Amino acid sequence: MAADEKIVKSEEEWRTELSEEQFRVLRQAGTERPFSGKYYNHKGRGIYRCAGCGKELFSSEDKFDSGSGWPSFFDVLSEKSINKQIDTKLARSRTEVLCARCGGHLGHVFSDGPKPTGKRYCINSVALEFDREESDKN
Ligand code: FE
Repeated sequence: MAADEKIVKSEEEWRTELSEEQFRVLRQAGTERPFSGKYYNHKGRGIYRCAGCGKELFSSEDKFDSGSGWPSFFDVLSEKSINKQIDTKLARSRTEVLCARCGGHLGHVFSDGPKPTGKRYCINSVALEFDREESDKN
């Protein structure tokens, strides 16, 4: 598969492949309860991939503790890996972050993050799969 090829699957296929919670977040733009996810307080060097399609999205080097209860990153590995769109579900509109390859909902991005980017990518653990770096496995 080409690196930037899109993945399109039917709702039924996604339901079969994903857990119930993954489906609710990735395909229905749900949100996991804060402090409930497996990665909000997760350490270790490696790459966080999309739980829907495996696309590399975030690096542990850009992860920080935002206190929000969700894994937070101040940068994305590549702007090409994600799409952003305005989410008006709440009174105050937010910017939704989606996987560019499978269209899965990942979370939101805010402008109150730390330097150098000032961004805070607030991402659901359940939308991610962590790949530990070889050198960090000992
Ligand atoms: Fe994806």
